[in-house]
Amino acid sequence: MAAMLEPIIALAEDDLRRWRACVRRFWLQRHAAPEATYPETEPGVDRIVRGPAATALRASYPGLVTVPTPRTDDEWQQAIDLTERLLVDVRAQSEEGWGVAGACFASDEGVRVRVDLVTRGLQGFKVFRVRHATAGSEADVDAVALWLYVMARNTLRVQSAGLLLIDTSFVYPGLGCYAGLYREMDLAPVLGTRPVGEWIVAMRQCERGAMPALPLGAPCGGPGASGRCEHLAQCGLPPAEPALADARTSLDIVGRELAAELRAEGYADLRGVPLHRLTAARHRRAARAVKHGQPVLDPGAAAALRTLPGPRRWLRFETIGFAVPPWPGTQPYQGLPFQWSCDLETAEGSPRHSGFLAGADGDPRRAFAASLVDAMDEEGPILAYNAGFERNRIRELALRFGDLGPALLALLPRVVDLFALLRDHYYHPAMAGSWSLRSVFQAVAPEVRAHEFEAPYRGRLVHSPLQAYAASLERELPPEEAERLREALRAHGRRHCEALRRLTAVLEAA
Ligand code: SF4
Repeated sequence: MAAMLEPIIALAEDDLRRWRACVRRFWLQRHAAPEATYPETEPGVDRIVRGPAATALRASYPGLVTVPTPRTDDEWQQAIDLTERLLVDVRAQSEEGWGVAGACFASDEGVRVRVDLVTRGLQGFKVFRVRHATAGSEADVDAVALWLYVMARNTLRVQSAGLLLIDTSFVYPGLGCYAGLYREMDLAPVLGTRPVGEWIVAMRQCERGAMPALPLGAPCGGPGASGRCEHLAQCGLPPAEPALADARTSLDIVGRELAAELRAEGYADLRGVPLHRLTAARHRRAARAVKHGQPVLDPGAAAALRTLPGPRRWLRFETIGFAVPPWPGTQPYQGLPFQWSCDLETAEGSPRHSGFLAGADGDPRRAFAASLVDAMDEEGPILAYNAGFERNRIRELALRFGDLGPALLALLPRVVDLFALLRDHYYHPAMAGSWSLRSVFQAVAPEVRAHEFEAPYRGRLVHSPLQAYAASLERELPPEEAERLREALRAHGRRHCEALRRLTAVLEAA
């Protein structure tokens, strides 16, 4: 079954992905330094053969065998040989839940693929791409079409091909029982639209030719954009056209609909719009701030804040939604609170910080709720930004834990939304029309750096609290590395509360 590899650099799924997105990107990758052109193993496969995803997959396929990740030509040949042995072992395949994760195949044109999951059907093999998502993408269909093409070149009979997607109605009963987490989606109706043989010929021709012209609408991505092209620097793109309007002065600050009207009236940006043309007070405030390049604050915010009795608290929640729910009674993507951070105003002046950060030992919601009730005491306003988020989590916890319900619900009338005060009384030109917490913190308290997050993880950096928390739960992670992630989360919580206090001080300054 295994084809001999040609002495040419193999094509892989990632090459197809690049070629389909931008032929120039494909060409640049194929002409990059040799180590960069080495066919990549698919990270998707690695994601499903370790961690909670592996546990979940094994619950559905208890007889799952994993082909180790190949990195060199020799390892690829070993992986292909192992796959062949596994696929001819008919006796093993008759056992319930048999499957091969990371099955490796090569075609005689030098295409190598690593298939997420191969199982046995009555009339042939069943092939699955495992996605920890609720829907697939065009790239998934391309990848499965490529797999089927290569498997067909190896004369393997495939009964069906599809995606394994997350079923959001699944409720995890515990004890590793993840059967039912995945739902199958058949790709048969769309696979015929993929002329894989023609694509492979075109890719080979492309790599032998000169660098292709710049394609129209290539998804280059900007710095930090997801899916950013790795050859942005080498591509030689012409300098970007100057933006029609700086985001800080854009008409869109007053909303797309009104901006369209203003454009139709001949205005290019907000600086040129006379204030009497704007009827909403918050639009006039934003326009004044943009014209003068300075924040504008109305006294109403300070007056509203003065009516609040002390002591004040500044509160922030973090929640996470796992594709594979880790705790009994939880569902995929359910928003689960894992951290709260709070600064309490004191008579001495410096605030007292407290917080809760869930560990790895089970559903943290009860401990989260109980510690929150303790820390919030019985009086004093609780200031949060976009406080509907905190209020809704409190309501959910009150519903779930009846004994804590009255104490939790008693917190709700005390919650004050700083967003509402900001929107009605303040505008800073640096917000560029965005009221997101990140934009607001960056505008009013950039030195606190609450809009940033960075934590070391397995020799690289993660840039979101959710990634850091999820990583800290990995069983295989050395304890000291998990603690570094947790310390980064605690520090982020402290910075967040400090930025909320700074925001309050800005509003009180009128
Ligand atoms: S930067 Fe854009 S045009 Fe250039 S190779 Fe990358 S995706 Fe293609």
